[in-house]
Amino acid sequence: MFNDPFIKIFILLVIYSLILIIIKFLNIGRKKTFKNCTNACPDCSNALNRTKRKQIDKILFHISFRIFDLKRYSCNECGWEGLRWEDRYRPQGN
Ligand SMILES: [Zn+2]
Repeated sequence: MFNDPFIKIFILLVIYSLILIIIKFLNIGRKKTFKNCTNACPDCSNALNRTKRKQIDKILFHISFRIFDLKRYSCNECGWEGLRWEDRYRPQGN
C-alpha cells in the first residue's frame, strides 16, 4: 500500500497541513500585541515597521495555502527583521 506514490504524496500533504494548523493554533510567528502597540518587536517590544516583501516571502505565502497573512517587518531599535502574520478574521471586531 505504501509503495503507491500517490498514497505517499497524500500522506505528506496531510502531515504538512497538520503542521500548518499546529503553527496557527500555537500562534507561532503571530504578531505580538501590547496595550499601546498592535505590532511589537519580539525582542525589544518596540513598534515594528513594515518593509518590502522579498521573493521568498511570496513563495512562503503560497506554499502555506495562504492561511497566514505574512508580512515582513523590521525593528529600528534592535535590528530585528522577519515575517509576522495576523488573523484575517477578527472575531472580536476591530
Ligand atoms: Zn526590536
